[in-house]
Amino acid sequence: MTEVVCPHCGASKSIVAPPPELVVVAPCPKCGEWVLLFRKKAIAIDRNVLENGSLQEKKAHVADIVGTFLEPDIEAELVKPVVEETEQHQHEELPRAESIPQREIDDFINIDLHLIHKKNYFERLFGKVE
Ligand SMILES: [Zn+2]
Repeated sequence: MTEVVCPHCGASKSIVAPPPELVVVAPCPKCGEWVLLFRKKAIAIDRNVLENGSLQEKKAHVADIVGTFLEPDIEAELVKPVVEETEQHQHEELPRAESIPQREIDDFINIDLHLIHKKNYFERLFGKVE
């Protein structure tokens, strides 16, 4: 059993702890608002946003919830340490991919790759082709 406190109204209730890999969404028995349970965390779900919000608002709310999963204590459990690089890889200079914002990569994949066959666009990106 584990005690869960509703993040909306503060009511507490003892429940059978769900398995650690399971995400449970359930309404609070007292106030009826939605609560997401993950591990021993109770995270508020704003039903109004999910039902009536714009796509943007819904995305932001879901991102908030997922972000709560990734707080350091949980992240440490979810993200396994990278296996030590073997020597054969050490001479390879990898591009600094982490300095490119994901948004730019997405834009490139979504837009640029479709246009790159058009000569004008290609030249604008890379300079005049001789
Ligand atoms: Zn409640």
